[in-house]
Amino acid sequence: THFGFETVSEKEKEERVYQVFHNVADKYDLMNDVMSAGIHRLWKDCFIKSVGPISDTNLLDVAGGTGDISFRYLQYLKNSSKSATVTVLDINQAMLNVGRDKAKSKGFQNEITWVQGNAENLPFSENQFDVYTVAYGIRNMTHIDKVLKEAYRVLKPGGRFACLEFSRVDNFFLRNLYDNYSFHIIPVMGKLIAGDYKSYKYLVESIRQFPDQETFSEMIEEAGFSNVNHENLMFGVSAIHSGFKI
Ligand code: SAM
Repeated sequence: THFGFETVSEKEKEERVYQVFHNVADKYDLMNDVMSAGIHRLWKDCFIKSVGPISDTNLLDVAGGTGDISFRYLQYLKNSSKSATVTVLDINQAMLNVGRDKAKSKGFQNEITWVQGNAENLPFSENQFDVYTVAYGIRNMTHIDKVLKEAYRVLKPGGRFACLEFSRVDNFFLRNLYDNYSFHIIPVMGKLIAGDYKSYKYLVESIRQFPDQETFSEMIEEAGFSNVNHENLMFGVSAIHSGFKI
C-alpha cells in the first residue's frame, strides 16, 4: 500500500519503533510542542482530568516515554497535597532517561519507578495496579490484543484502563485539512527540528493505520473490560478510551 509499512515483518516494525524513539528522544518534548502548537498539553490535561487521579493509587503508565502523563497525574494530586505511586514503563531506555532527568527537576523522583519493558509482556504480576494509562503509545505496538490483555491482567479488580491516542476525525473537511497537514508538514518539521524526516513520516503513517474509535472500543471489550466508552478531543484528532476491570 502507499503507507508502505504493511510489508515489514513484526520484528522489523518493533525495531523501527525502537529506532524512531531512540532517534528523537532528546527532541521529543520540543517536537510535540511544535507539531501540535502546544495542543498536546491540553489533550494530556483533559486525559488526566478524565482519569481523575485518586490519592494513594498505584498507577502504571505504559509507553510512558519522557513521563508527561505521570508528571501530570502526580501534579494533579500534589495540588491538593496528595500523592500516588507511579511506575513508568517504556520499551526505550533513551526516552526513560530523559524522563528520569525531568523527574528530578520536577521533584518527583521518589514517587516514580522507571522500568524498561514491553507492553505486550509486562514484567509485573497480576492485580497490582489501580490505574493503567497509555498515551500516544498503543498505535506503535505490534499486537494490540496482547497489550490489552496484559493491561487487564495487571490491573486490580475495579481498576481502570485509560488510553489517549490519535484517532479518526469525524468531520470530512477537517479530516482533509488534518491529513494534509500531518502528511506533508510534520515529516518536514521532523527533519528541521529533530533532523529525522523518516521517523516522523512513520509516526504519521501509524496514525492512519490505527483502528477507529468504534473498532478500538470493541477490542478493549474483547480483552475483558467493562463500561467501555470513548470521548473525542477536537472532532477525533485524539480520543480518550476508558474501561474497567470488574
Ligand atoms: N506517553 C508519552 C507521551 O504521551 O508523551 C510518550 C508517547 S511516545 C509517542 C510513544 C512511546 O511508546 C515511546 O516512548 C516508545 O518507546 C513507546 N513504545 C512503543 N512500543 C512499545 C512497547 N511495545 N512497549 C512499551 N513501550 C513502547
